[in-house]
Amino acid sequence: MSASTYSHAPKIAVVGTGFVGSSFAYSLMIHGTVSEIVLIDIDKKRAEGEAMDLNHGVSFVRPVRVWAGDYQDCQDANIVVVTAGLAQKLGESRLDLATNNVEIFRQIIPKIKEYNRTGILLVATNPVDLMTYAALKLSGFPSSRVIGSGTILDTSRLRYVLGEHLKVDPRNVHAYIIGEHGDSEVPAWSLASVAGTRLRDYSAVYGQELDDLYLNNMFEQVKNAAYKIIKLKGRTYYAIGLGLTRIVESIIRDENAILTVSSLLHDYYGVDDICLSVPTIVNRNGIRETLKLPLTDDEIIKLQSSASTLKNIVKSLIL
Ligand code: NAD
Repeated sequence: MSASTYSHAPKIAVVGTGFVGSSFAYSLMIHGTVSEIVLIDIDKKRAEGEAMDLNHGVSFVRPVRVWAGDYQDCQDANIVVVTAGLAQKLGESRLDLATNNVEIFRQIIPKIKEYNRTGILLVATNPVDLMTYAALKLSGFPSSRVIGSGTILDTSRLRYVLGEHLKVDPRNVHAYIIGEHGDSEVPAWSLASVAGTRLRDYSAVYGQELDDLYLNNMFEQVKNAAYKIIKLKGRTYYAIGLGLTRIVESIIRDENAILTVSSLLHDYYGVDDICLSVPTIVNRNGIRETLKLPLTDDEIIKLQSSASTLKNIVKSLIL
């Protein structure tokens, strides 16, 4: 897809219409960003049911065509969003899903590629960094067009808890979770700021010290959020649905937005040939650039360790 214009109104295909896929489609529909949403699932009845349910709300939103389709309907899609696969169960980590979900991707990705060789693949299936890497290898697409939702959700969770604590709108908090979307993720505190002021300096404005113990406590809440939600209600889906919508918007509107999405890293503080999240510029072409921001030595070591955790698993997946 050229960076200048689309030859048709924006179309999104969603492969996997379970909790995450359908929440994403619902959010996308409400945001009014695209004019066509096609829902694809191995469980055709589920896709049909979701399409019917969503269509019954079309009179309340901007015009959009939603239907249950098949892989040939990926043709002309600007973005194919993949959420198909197994989800974490109580007591499972995201990495426990890798082998089974890679097998599912071996079925799905070639079928998408058969009908669409020019669009962007946006992956949400967990473990999302490994699945993004698998999608890249199985599709043969250029790395700029294979994106994982990465730590966009963790970053949003961090902004929420900081916003709550500081009593400011989370949109005025700039703070990033980088690395794996999972247990080895890293809070890049050195880059965190509020109203253009470094987080630690902002504590003087706020009138309360944000010491290491406090920040670590906040990070633990973020890192363990999915486990807690799964314990409470079985799944997480609304916030990732909104996060995926944000990524889609930044692509469709050619925003050059800076988002912590997962993409193939090359010599990023010594991290190479693995998909991980770092602050990244996203536009109509997909990944424009990963930003090599000034991390501290400690953050770099943690990022490298996050990468090597994933690399060890990639070796066993035979991609
Ligand atoms: P779900 O079980 O509700 O939905 C999964 C869907 O995938 C089902 O409808 C199933 O029929 C479909 N599917 C399975 N195999 C398929 C195949 N071969 N072809 C087409 N469709 C197939 O699960 P969910 O709660 O929607 O979670 C989906 C994925 O998203 C999981 O891997 C979960 O861990 C992940 N997730 C990611 C994030 C994130 O931040 N990236 C957040 C939450 C969940």
